[in-house]
Amino acid sequence: MLQVDPGVYIGAAADLNDVQALSAASVSHVLSVDSVDPGPLLPAGPGFSRKWVNVLDEATADLLSHLDACCAFLDQALDGGGAALVHCQAGRSRSATVVTAYLMKKYQLGFSEAYLKLKTLKADVQVNSGFQQQLQLYEDMQWEVDTASPAYKQYRLMKIAERYPELQQVPREVFALDPAHSRSSEVSYRCRKCSRTLFRDSSILGHPVGDGASAFIHKKSRNMSGELTCTSYFVEPVLWMEQALLGVMNGQLLCPKCSSKLGSFSWYGDQCSCGRWVTPAFQLHRTRLDEIRQLPAQK
Ligand SMILES: [Zn+2]
Ligand SMILES: [Zn+2]
Repeated sequence: MLQVDPGVYIGAAADLNDVQALSAASVSHVLSVDSVDPGPLLPAGPGFSRKWVNVLDEATADLLSHLDACCAFLDQALDGGGAALVHCQAGRSRSATVVTAYLMKKYQLGFSEAYLKLKTLKADVQVNSGFQQQLQLYEDMQWEVDTASPAYKQYRLMKIAERYPELQQVPREVFALDPAHSRSSEVSYRCRKCSRTLFRDSSILGHPVGDGASAFIHKKSRNMSGELTCTSYFVEPVLWMEQALLGVMNGQLLCPKCSSKLGSFSWYGDQCSCGRWVTPAFQLHRTRLDEIRQLPAQK
């Protein structure tokens, strides 16, 4: 067990047995980032405040969604005058991810900076590639997981895509509500043919325009000045798509009212007309849609 910041220690599961070291460091809080229940390992006696995040050390595992709660738990230990031990099995990847996030958040550091800082203190840390990407995303979101942001929504869909065949079903909470069944002042998009409202502006998951170098690019995806453009909107799944998604990896997306073809989806991902790969992809052709801006209400 090693101190990485005042009151914050990183360690392995074996460190839970070292009662003397825990007490010498005034550890009051134990954060276990492990797929093994650490309960039985904790020494008997005065209790510790505990938090257990049950994740495997795999690139596909989702730690990002837990980072804010983990940082809050560490703050709680310090606010109460205690100290916290963050541990996983070996003290190299999962615990290091949480500690890196904590350093990023506390000192407003980028991922690389915070990770380097941790590595200089503990040379054997090795955060797996998936967790590295998640920490990068944490930096992009300014050290707070914003579940409504397009970046987080795309991330969450990618986590589902990685497990899709075994998952069989898309969790309901990833679907946006059907905008045809509620009112909003947001910009929305409807079927050009039958005017059925299909999705709102907040459902669009934008991407940086690709360079198209490796792509076979259609002429129509270049605008007048020759720049590449996106001819589709990539969106989060909307509830009217639920039936089409059932049990398949890819397929067409048809208008729920007039059945005209609007676009397609693929859990494997698809290439935008601009050359960028998007995984997974739920895309609707711009030419099949009308954008509707609500006029401010008259007084
Ligand atoms: Zn594009
Ligand atoms: Zn339609």
